[in-house]
Order: sequence, then structure tokens, then C-alpha cells
Amino acid sequence: MLQSYETRTLRPLKSGSSLKLTDITARATRLEAYDGHERIWLGEDHERGLTAIVAIHNTALGPALGGTRVWPHPTFEAALTDALRLSRGMTYKAAITNMPYGGGKAVIVADPRTDKTPAMLEAYAEMLAALNGQYFTGEDVGLTLADADFLRARTPNVTGTTIGGSGNPSPVTAQGVFLGIKAALRHRNGNDAMSGLRIAVQGLGSVGWSLCEKLHAEGASLVVADLDEARVRKAMETFHAEAVAGDAIVAADVDLFAPCALGGILSADTIPTLKAKIVAGAANNQLERHEDARRLMAQGVLYAPDYVINAGGLINVATELDPDGYDREAAMTKVELIPQTLSDIFRRADSDARPTNDIAQAMGEERIARARAA
Ligand code: NAD
Repeated sequence: MLQSYETRTLRPLKSGSSLKLTDITARATRLEAYDGHERIWLGEDHERGLTAIVAIHNTALGPALGGTRVWPHPTFEAALTDALRLSRGMTYKAAITNMPYGGGKAVIVADPRTDKTPAMLEAYAEMLAALNGQYFTGEDVGLTLADADFLRARTPNVTGTTIGGSGNPSPVTAQGVFLGIKAALRHRNGNDAMSGLRIAVQGLGSVGWSLCEKLHAEGASLVVADLDEARVRKAMETFHAEAVAGDAIVAADVDLFAPCALGGILSADTIPTLKAKIVAGAANNQLERHEDARRLMAQGVLYAPDYVINAGGLINVATELDPDGYDREAAMTKVELIPQTLSDIFRRADSDARPTNDIAQAMGEERIARARAA
């Protein structure tokens, strides 16, 4: 019988704490992105400047695990939608990679450059502690390794830290994406040679940069975009990359497009402009809508489902929670299964004439159903 993590009671807050914790699950049901999520918590601390959402999607396979994003969403509804979509993706990511964890994700509504203060993170650490093991977190866009360490010093439910953890997961994520790109090339071209190929990478952050290093070493010609001009200049110098402005990179004349920035880049508007015949990158929620995968298929584009190809980071931090503790070799062995999983998805998608993300979802659901039945 599976343990029900969502029914764990909360740990009481420190007396006099200014943090207020509210169950907003009922409020979230009104949103299109709500997908039967088990529990959604809002943590508010006006004194310490915290507005944080923790969305727990599904804990059939284990406690919820997923990073914390710090982002200045224009509205609370936009932040909640982001948390709902990201946490749902984590459920399928854990399921399809055979991790004994459920899907969860947090969004702190704030500008990571100006609003992230020790007091705010202190309040967030209290929120994580109060959730009493329902949710384990780690880094995501806007939350750095130093921030994760800060939280870990105050609460145990934080992964990907240097304190007793495996450190920054981004290089492992990049390795999984690199292997996934090779699987996509093998499926499409019959071989995974990169020399002579043009590959576009959007986002030169922790994952995107590390991926560029690997692609460049294999002989690919790079086309890059980032909002940060200094990173773009550095990529032009280091990799002799060609630069394209921001979202215009979607339409670059390349063989493969690797989105490694934020989500929603593939939509009814952008897909018709794509020239690449493969999309395989690290960003979460690359499709604006689920049905965009069908648009990609109709256009003859092979799409590597984002939560499968970018699972390296999750695999790495989940390995930290193994009873024997973190073992990098064990983590890398599991990351090497990502291309195998992708090849299975590509083959099944071809034989069933269905979009790859439908197949990935079905495979994740099969695993959850098997666990429920066990
Ligand atoms: P990061 O914050 O280090 O880098 C993101 C980069 O994208 C930044 O340099 C930013 O300037 C750039 N960017 C943002 N919007 C852009 C736009 N419109 N056009 C061009 N550039 C833009 O983040 P990261 O850790 O490298 O993660 C990248 C993506 O991969 C995110 O979607 C994240 O959720 C996903 N992801 C990361 C990991 C991980 O281990 N870090 C794991 C799985 C998925």
C-alpha cells in the first residue's frame, strides 16, 4: 500500500512567526492548468516579503520533489498557473524515469535580482519545514546553489545543495539533454554525427551553456540567443557561435532547436516559423499547449518531450535521497537511460502515428497505474 504523503499533517510554525500558510487547492481548481492536483499551499509573509506557492500534483509514487522558481510573474494567477504546470510535469518526469517520487514545484513570486533577501528565504525555509516532508525542493530558474544551501541549513527538505548534497544539478541535466539530442539524431538521421549540423540553443544559463560546450566539442555549429548580451558575446568568442535576438531563434535556419530558456516557446504562432526538424532541449513546458505537439508532428518535426530529455537534474537530486546517500556514478547510470527512453517514445510515436508527448504521458500514466495496483 502506498503511503499517502499528502495527508501528512503540517508541522506547527514557530511561535510568533509572521508566516501565514493557506491551503488554496479549491481556488486553483478554477484554473485551466489545474489537473487534479492533490494540494496547493500559499505561503505569505508580508513582513519578510514572501509570496510562495507550493503545488503538489501527485504523490502516488512518493513524496513530491521539484525545484523552486523565483520569478516576477505579472499576476498571482500567472504564477499559480506556472506552479500547476511545472508540478504536473514533475509527476510525469519522475514516473517515466522510474524515480520513487511524486510531482511538486514551487514558485516564489519575486524578481530574483532585486527581491530575494535573506529574510525572504528565511520565511520560505519555515514554509518548507512546516510542510513536513510532503515536498522536497531544490534549484530552478532564479534560485541559486547558494540559495539552496541557505535553505538547507534551515530545513532538511532541500536537495541539490553543497551541504550534504550533490551540488548544482545543471551539468547533469545538460548531459542528459546532450544524450537525448544524440538519440533524436539517431532516430531522424540514422546516426548521431554532429559535425556539419547547425544547432540553435536558446538560453545560455547553467544548462544551456554546459550543453553548448558539449555540442561544440562534437563539431556542431551553434546559433545562440540570450537576453543577457554578455553571455551571447562570450558564446560568440568561445564557440564561434552566431547570435540571434531572443525569441527570433525559433525561426533560425538550423537542423535542431534546443530551447534552454523559459517555457511556452512552441505555440500555434511560432511552430509554423520553425525550420528545424528536431526540437530537443532543457526548458520545462516548451509547448504552450499540449496540442502543440500535434502541430509539430504535422510539420514533420521530431519533438523530444521536455520532461523526459531534461530529467537528468531530477535523477541527480533524487539519488541524494537514496537510503545510502548520493552516489554520482549511480546517478549517471540512470541518466544514461534517458536516450533509451526517448528512443522507445520515438518508435512508439511512429508506429502509433501519435505525438511524442502523448506517448510519454501514456508511459508515465502506465507506471503510476502499476504502482497504484501493486
Ligand atoms: P538559468 O536561469 O541558469 O538560465 C536561463 C537563461 O535563459 C538565462 O541566461 C536567461 O537570460 C535566458 N533567457 C530567458 N528568457 C530568454 C529568452 N526569451 N530568450 C533567450 N534567452 C532567455 O536556467 P537553467 O538552470 O539553465 O534552466 C534553463 C531551463 O531548463 C529552464 O526552463 C529550467 O526550468 C529547465 N531545467 C533546468 C534544470 C537544471 O538542472 N537547471 C533541470 C531541468 C529543467
